[in-house]
Amino acid sequence: MRSDGLLIVISGPAGAGKGTVVQELVKDENIRLSISSTTRAPRGKEQNGVEYNFLSKEEFEGLIAENGFYEYAQYVGNYYGTPKKPVEQWRSEGRDVIFEIEVQGCRKMREILPGCISIFIMPPSLEILEARLRGRGTETEEVIKKRMARAKEELAIAEEYDYVVVNDKLEDCVAEVREIIAANRTKA
Ligand code: 5GP
Repeated sequence: MRSDGLLIVISGPAGAGKGTVVQELVKDENIRLSISSTTRAPRGKEQNGVEYNFLSKEEFEGLIAENGFYEYAQYVGNYYGTPKKPVEQWRSEGRDVIFEIEVQGCRKMREILPGCISIFIMPPSLEILEARLRGRGTETEEVIKKRMARAKEELAIAEEYDYVVVNDKLEDCVAEVREIIAANRTKA
């Protein structure tokens, strides 16, 4: 049984449902969610400090200069980054930490934190992905098109991940990810 916490990187194209999966996983009180910083505008009911730390481009670039991120990437015209500070605290407490980040960020995390486990949440099909993205009703047609193009690129990278889980039915997907986490916790 390991005593240090797991670092779990979860990726998947926008609309794959990874946010919902992550919300289920963090109901486990031993798991903490890393709140990323971003320069994109809040969507729907999103609140600063809950879904993201919403920053201006200048604030974000200031943190890059201070080496405040494990990794950061650009995604459909905005910056997204993983702040170091809270994660270092949780790791020292032996907690598991989940990072919900896109594929470039995952590559960097695997370089910096080689012990992390990576899980790719796959939509059942591109058609379902597009329907889910449109169903949110929070994005313009142009943004939806760009997110779909990015999703196709990301699907091609899924095989780099330690695990790929299809999110057809939410409960099944969550159960499968929980099993992966449990199996890694008991690894020597
Ligand atoms: P959204 O705008 O839909 O919330 O997020 C867009 C993409 O950015 C998603 O794939 C999400 O996982 C990713 N993302 C969120 N936070 C981070 C981060 O800190 N670093 C990186 N590299 N990607 C992130």
